[in-house]
Amino acid sequence: MADSADFVIVGGGIGGLVLARRLVLGGASVIVLEASGSLGGTVARQRVGGIEVDAGAESFATRGGTVAALAKSLQLGDDIVEPNPAGAWLQTAAGSAFRLPANSLLGIPGSPLAQDVVAIIGGRAGTRAFFDTLIPSFYGAKATTLGELVRKRMGRPVLDQLVRPISRGVHSADADELLLDQVAPGLRQAIVREGSLARAVLALRETTARAGSAVAGIRGGVFRLVDALQSDLSRFGVDVRLDSAGHDLRLDRVSVRGTAITGRVVAAAPGLLRDTDDRGTRVTLATLVVDQPLLDAAPRGTGVLVAEGAPGVRARALTHSTAKWAWLAEAAGGRHILRLSYDDAGDDLADVARADAAALLGVPIPAAAVEDFARAEWYRPNRYTPTPDDVPLVGESIAGTGLASVVARSEALAGTLLGDADG
Ligand SMILES: Cc1cc2nc3c(=O)[nH]c(=O)nc-3n(C[C@H](O)[C@H](O)[C@H](O)COP(=O)(O)OP(=O)(O)OC[C@H]3O[C@@H](n4cnc5c(N)ncnc54)[C@H](O)[C@@H]3O)c2cc1C
Repeated sequence: MADSADFVIVGGGIGGLVLARRLVLGGASVIVLEASGSLGGTVARQRVGGIEVDAGAESFATRGGTVAALAKSLQLGDDIVEPNPAGAWLQTAAGSAFRLPANSLLGIPGSPLAQDVVAIIGGRAGTRAFFDTLIPSFYGAKATTLGELVRKRMGRPVLDQLVRPISRGVHSADADELLLDQVAPGLRQAIVREGSLARAVLALRETTARAGSAVAGIRGGVFRLVDALQSDLSRFGVDVRLDSAGHDLRLDRVSVRGTAITGRVVAAAPGLLRDTDDRGTRVTLATLVVDQPLLDAAPRGTGVLVAEGAPGVRARALTHSTAKWAWLAEAAGGRHILRLSYDDAGDDLADVARADAAALLGVPIPAAAVEDFARAEWYRPNRYTPTPDDVPLVGESIAGTGLASVVARSEALAGTLLGDADG
C-alpha cells in the first residue's frame, strides 16, 4: 500500500466521505483515514427490535437541495421521503404540552400575536415580540448568534420558551452558541429585505413551502448514504483505511501509528486541530421499541421538544420515529419506535427513557410494553476557531451542525482544492 496520495483525508464521517468522492471524481488520488472500525461517524445504523434504524442523524435539511443532490448522485433519489407533516410539540418549562406554532422557523414566530404563540409565551411577551415589526430592520443586524438576534428583536420569552427548546432538541446546542448564518442561512438578508424578523420568517417559510418539506429522510435510514458513499469510494479506487487514527497533522503529512502518510492533508474530524483531549459535548440517544396501541394516534405528532426545566423529564427531545416516517412504521409492523436524547445519561437510561416517553406522550408505557432498547453515545464538537496556518478543514466543527451544512462545505472545499491542483 502506497503511503502517499494527492490528498489524505483524516476522518471518515460524511464530511470526509463526500470530500473524498468529489476529489477522486475530479481525478485526484485519495487516502481516507478513519480512526474507528467503520465509516460514517454520526451517520450510523443500529439494530433494535429486529429493525435497522438510524443511530445518529435521521433526517436532513432540504435547504439548498445539497443533500438531495448527493442522494440522487448516489442512486438514492427515489428513496428520499418527506416526514409526516403533523409536526412536533413543545413541552414547556411549566410542564404543559403545545403544538409548535405553525408559522415559525427554529421556534421564531412569524406571527408573534398568533393564538398558538400567545398560548405558550403569554400576551405580554407576544406584544413585546411584535415590536420587532415596528423597530428598524438594522436593529440586531450585527448579531452573530441565533440567541442574540432573537433576544434583541423579539425579547427573552421568545428566546427562552420557543427558540431555546428547539436549539437544544434539534441542534444539541444553546441558541447563544449557534452561529446565525450557519443555522439559518439567508435569515439575516431576509430581515433587511422584509423589514422585520417576523416577516423574514414568513418569507423564508413560504420559500421552503414552495420547495416541499424543510426536512427529508431516506427510506430505510439516512445511514444508507454512507453505504452508498463507501461503495462509490471503493469503485473509484479511494484507499480507505479503517482503525487508522491520524495524528500530528501537517499541511503535507499525517502520522498513523508512527508512519507518515504524505499528500495534501484535510482534517475531517472534529477536534483534530486543537491541542486538547476535549471531545466536545456528550449526547446520548435512547431508542425504545414499544408495543402500545394508544400511541397509534400519534398523540404528540412527530415528537416533543423539551424546554429546560420541564418538570419530571430528563430528555431534551423525543422523536416518535414511527409517526414521523411512514417507511419505519411499516417496518415496525404496528410497534412504535421512540427515540429520546439526553445530555446527561446514567446506567438507568432504559427506565428513565421509558418514564420520560410516557410523560411526554401522555400515554402509559409499562415495562412489559417495551420490546427492545438501544443506547448510542455521541460527542458533538465544540466550535472550532481557525488559526492562520491550519490545514483545511471540513465537517461539523467548521460547517456547523447538520448534513446540509457539512455536505455543502465538503463540496465547496473540493472545488477549491481541485482548482488549486489545476492551477
Ligand atoms: C445524535 C445525533 C443526531 C443527529 N441528527 C441529525 C439529523 O437528524 N439531521 C442532520 O442533518 N444532522 C444530524 N446530526 C448531525 C450530523 O450527524 C453531523 O453534523 C454530521 O454527520 C457530522 O459529520 P462529520 O463528518 O463532520 O463528523 P463525524 O460524523 O463526527 O465524523 C468524524 C469521523 O472522524 C473520525 N475520526 C475522529 N478522529 C479521528 C482521527 N484522529 N483520525 C481519523 N479519523 C478520526 C471519527 O471516528 C468519525 O468517523 C446528528 C448528530 C447526532 C450526534
